[in-house]
Amino acid sequence: MPRTRPTARRWGRAPLMSVPNDQPAGATEYRLSKSRVCEGLQCHKFLWWRMHEPEAPELVIDDPAARFRMDQGTEVGELARQQVGPGELIDFPRDQIEAKLAATADAMRRGAQRIFEAAFRANGIFVAVDVLERDGPRYTVIEVKSTTKVKPEHIGDVAVQVHVLRQCGVSVTRAEVMHLNPDYTVPTSPNLPNLPQLFVREDVTPSVEIYLLDLSVELAHQFAMLQGPRPEVPIGPHCFEPRDCPFMDRCWGDAPEHHVSSLYRIRSDTAWALASDGHATILELPTELKLSVVARRQVEAVGTQTMIVEPGLNAALAGLKGPIAYLDFETVGPAVPVWSGCHPYTAVPVQFSVHTERADGGYSHCEWLAEGPTDPRPVIARALIEACRGAGSVLMYSSFERVRIRRLAEDVPELADELLELDGRLVDLEPIVRNHVYHPGFGGSFSLKEVLPALIAELSYDDLEVNDGQVASVLLNRMLLRTAPADAGESAAHRANLLAYCKLDTWAMVKLVERLRELASA
Ligand code: SF4
Repeated sequence: MPRTRPTARRWGRAPLMSVPNDQPAGATEYRLSKSRVCEGLQCHKFLWWRMHEPEAPELVIDDPAARFRMDQGTEVGELARQQVGPGELIDFPRDQIEAKLAATADAMRRGAQRIFEAAFRANGIFVAVDVLERDGPRYTVIEVKSTTKVKPEHIGDVAVQVHVLRQCGVSVTRAEVMHLNPDYTVPTSPNLPNLPQLFVREDVTPSVEIYLLDLSVELAHQFAMLQGPRPEVPIGPHCFEPRDCPFMDRCWGDAPEHHVSSLYRIRSDTAWALASDGHATILELPTELKLSVVARRQVEAVGTQTMIVEPGLNAALAGLKGPIAYLDFETVGPAVPVWSGCHPYTAVPVQFSVHTERADGGYSHCEWLAEGPTDPRPVIARALIEACRGAGSVLMYSSFERVRIRRLAEDVPELADELLELDGRLVDLEPIVRNHVYHPGFGGSFSLKEVLPALIAELSYDDLEVNDGQVASVLLNRMLLRTAPADAGESAAHRANLLAYCKLDTWAMVKLVERLRELASA
């Protein structure tokens, strides 16, 4: 059965590698960490596989983006400790659970005011508290998050910790989530007074207390479930919330093509309500369901298995002014910002590629990639203005580049006029596709990832070392913002791979416009 608990119960943490404490301990005994409990609340089948197949290939973290997020979380945790003040760090290798428990017990006996990574275990569940603060006989549990706000899944995460600590006899009277402050700004001068701190501490005690009311029952269900055969859990929104389940390939293999959840811009709750009422695909929708023009086009294209091209495509393309330039940015958006005026996760362009039509029918190419940790904005802004000089329409795919250029105009005021003039020439290609073309292969999405293979089969990113925007961003972060000295050979290879990736992004747009012109004139 699908999980039918309220939203706050569908929570979890970033997938972590399983720790020895999580391994099955025998036919009738399982030990869980907080992370595993969270996975169980996302989906019992997920937890069952995690515990019964700890070596499953799906659980191996070989995704650079996931590793980067974990590293970033570690950095955020260390900075949070600096902000809260001095304390005792329970610092043992990951698998030395007993040593962690003993050291924490010792620090508690000595009346430590503040303990970092305080370890507790009760009734088979192990937790490590990011920050445990003592106020006389009472304690506050503080969970540090790399987010810029409290998310629903954080409440459950903290509740598990409070539950275990209380089971251990610790009087926890307050619970907080300490997250990055979205208003934190890297100062233009470090001596400015009254700067907001990097973190804010939010009291989540009332929500946690409510959550705790039925947590014990849920935990009992999880332990009982693990003793039995694999539970039957249908696919649903829990496969994606709070994060993508690693076992998606196993469960979604039998899902029908054009599942109802792939209907263009359908709300998740509407889609899964329809699915549970037996409307499995977008071809079985109830007649009373109101569809947008785009969704109707999608249903028609899928029903007839043909690509639909609206007559207005020709006029939309005719509105483009030559010579057309094609622009793509890559950005870094570190959790802990480094350049003045930036907030946590502010996306700063550090690379671009521009292809421009030439009079002879060919294309010229221009690219730029930052070199190191120096603020790249003034230099990239200048290079960008030059690269687009003389172009008529400057095409991008999605509004991402426009938002970044407007932000650059604020951050580099001496170039604001020229950047805003460039902004006036930007044209988003995505709505041109969305409003005029639907191919059954789009799957309800107009991202380039879906559109390109459907419209230009011969164009492939497969031969590139970097073939994904997230990986590009991770590499850029590592290359530009790393504190450790870089390996020269590795950096050169990364640069070459990043340049090739960004260049293909704009070349893909060139080919897409060529294809759209063919379709418009067919
Ligand atoms: S894919 Fe969905 S149903 Fe399958 S284990 Fe993961 S969350 Fe559960």
